[in-house]
Amino acid sequence: MLTAVERGGVYLPNCGLWMDARRAKPFAVVSHAHSDHTARHQSFLATAPTIDCMRVRMGDAVADRGVAVDYGEVYQHGALRIQLFPAGHVLGSAMVRIEAPNGESLLYTGDFKMRAGLAAEPIEIPQADTLIMESTFGRPEFTFPSSEVLQQQIRDFCVQALAAGEVPVLLAYSLGKAQEVLKILQSGDFTLMVHKTIRALNPVFDKHGISMPTTRPLDFLNMQDCVVVMPPAARKKIPRGRQRLAMISGWGLQPNSKYRYRTDAVLPLSDHADYPELLQFVDAVGPKKVFTLHGSTVELAAALRRRGVDAWSLSGNDQLELF
Ligand SMILES: [Zn+2]
Repeated sequence: MLTAVERGGVYLPNCGLWMDARRAKPFAVVSHAHSDHTARHQSFLATAPTIDCMRVRMGDAVADRGVAVDYGEVYQHGALRIQLFPAGHVLGSAMVRIEAPNGESLLYTGDFKMRAGLAAEPIEIPQADTLIMESTFGRPEFTFPSSEVLQQQIRDFCVQALAAGEVPVLLAYSLGKAQEVLKILQSGDFTLMVHKTIRALNPVFDKHGISMPTTRPLDFLNMQDCVVVMPPAARKKIPRGRQRLAMISGWGLQPNSKYRYRTDAVLPLSDHADYPELLQFVDAVGPKKVFTLHGSTVELAAALRRRGVDAWSLSGNDQLELF
């Protein structure tokens, strides 16, 4: 039977299979190259873009142990058929569908979004009996504005800062979010100055068919008239001066988020599904059983049960509600 537990990653005890294990394993499936989904495994299965991103971030020794599979290709692992499907989250991100010899199936989403992005493959949703899904934004207040509105907000933020003689600094994670922001700014007349961890990944996007705009290396002494894109961790290196900071994060929907992030704005562009998308996604998969993982696991599972879906938090912290 295809059962799963959360144990620093998702583990299928009956098959001995790890997915997104956060500690090194003899073999694991890696859904995408964000650091909380990868480890220095002895061998792993992932898409080619994910392995290329891991090569940039973790080095050749790790990446050389990756086995690349195309979306939709069947990889036979013992008795299990494993297939990866585009998750729409970041370049190369994959949902993992596992099928047992008796035809029973399980889908693990990793991180995903339904909205089309500018820097990730569009999602493809397979059907499955059991669904393990992320629930980062699994509460109704997390309903994002449309992509067009968000894209305009980001461009307006930059135009207004520049007009006021300030340097717009957009804080975005190096893999995925930053490239989405760069694609949004590509259509404007901006000089883009970009942190090295982002510039190092841009050729992987070019290689896999997502052409990135020309950028300049970040130079803190010459930022005037540029739009700066950097990961949040690099902000402490910004020298005193006339800058206007925006954090790019879905958490921007929470009131007071700009005080929490200590930025002038938080623009809620996210690479995760919002609440309506999470519900829509479950309808599309049509599972018999759902387990939620990350973020609002208990809340989303309860909402799904109210809609007649047999849904529980994978960590099991809502099972008491049965009694
Ligand atoms: Zn991710």
